[in-house]
Amino acid sequence: MHTKAVIRCGSCGYEYSSFGSSPLRDGKSLDCPSCLREMEHQMKSKLIAIMGELDDLNRDFRKYAIEREEPVFQVSIGFVPDKTMVDWR
Ligand SMILES: [Zn+2]
Repeated sequence: MHTKAVIRCGSCGYEYSSFGSSPLRDGKSLDCPSCLREMEHQMKSKLIAIMGELDDLNRDFRKYAIEREEPVFQVSIGFVPDKTMVDWR
């Protein structure tokens, strides 16, 4: 199981996914496959760090459920545009 990032390009409105932290490390899967706009380097780094943290959290939930018989949870984080995003497609 891997954490999935759902990315929506604000330039063309295309929505695409990137899975886990390892495919994100090369940075290629983060740019828009539709209009080829590139995500800024620091933003890529932030997203990679967040995905890595979420992968670790979900892995630890599963690990501790097996090793310590703790309740297991799996977390995904979504994004809800607010009213200030008037130009959002
Ligand atoms: Zn695009």
